[in-house]
Amino acid sequence: MLNKMALMRHFFHTEEKKMLKRLLDEMKAGTKKQISVSAENLPVTLIKGEYPGKTVLISAGMHSGEYPGVPALGNICRQMDPQKMHGSVIAFHCLNISGLYAHSDALFPEDGGNLNRCFPGDENGTVSQRIAAFMTKEVLPHADFIIDLHSGGLGEPLTPCLFYPVQKSVKEESLNIAASLTLPYLLPSESRVGMFSYAANVMHIPGLLLERGYSGICEETWIREYEEDLRRALSALNVIAYEYKTMPQHLFEKVIYMEFEEQGIWQCRIHAEDEVRKGDLLGIVYDLFGNPVHEYRSDYDGIVMYHRGGITARTGDLLTAVALKKEE
Ligand SMILES: [Zn+2]
Repeated sequence: MLNKMALMRHFFHTEEKKMLKRLLDEMKAGTKKQISVSAENLPVTLIKGEYPGKTVLISAGMHSGEYPGVPALGNICRQMDPQKMHGSVIAFHCLNISGLYAHSDALFPEDGGNLNRCFPGDENGTVSQRIAAFMTKEVLPHADFIIDLHSGGLGEPLTPCLFYPVQKSVKEESLNIAASLTLPYLLPSESRVGMFSYAANVMHIPGLLLERGYSGICEETWIREYEEDLRRALSALNVIAYEYKTMPQHLFEKVIYMEFEEQGIWQCRIHAEDEVRKGDLLGIVYDLFGNPVHEYRSDYDGIVMYHRGGITARTGDLLTAVALKKEE
């Protein structure tokens, strides 16, 4: 039997299902609209270009402490002129609003869910699972290309980089758009449970996950650089006209994720974008008395993309992500 809440949710869900697709179809060409969708009232800007073209989904704030994407996307939506545009933009300004206002680093405070591990989601599950299910069913199928804006986490220094899908059917198209961006490091994503990665590696929709900025702060330069990347991507997708010069980039085929094996005080010896060689000291975990517990060394030659920078180490937490140099 459906209880009242489930019935309400079912009702809203059915309404929304018609709503986003119907709104897109019914919108007059050359116009913009700001709406709230899903039971969580996610803020969305729909921009329908004057001329036909691709539908691009751009999202930010999936991890609530990864700030630069949120203002960058808002600024771009405000600046875009739909009368000069081809195709449509569906902009999800902030996918984790409760986390944003709770100052949560990444997770939903209601259920501890990491939205980028929840796909395809469950419409009868907890809030993060419901949002994933909503995106999977109501939004992703309408997108021709997906751009998801992220950053390093709290106490997690990061060098600007992006993830492209490994799925053969969409890899080349995704990399073609990646080539337009200012992000220098291109990393493979094999995941199938994140939004962009589920869309690409399972649903065969090309896309990219961009990473810029870190540590729960929001430098003006990071916002401007994300705006520049969005303009470049939309130009490469033939949605807007914008001229740019391509930048040098490095394509990697493999990333190694090292994790902590114990809890303790982490004294880090690396920085984002450092080149490390096999055997190099990455840092030492101490106990609370200051006794050394574990010396971590690199098993590979590569470049540090991001790493735990703050002093807290917890078992299973990410220590560093290292992009591997090709074997010579
Ligand atoms: Zn993230």
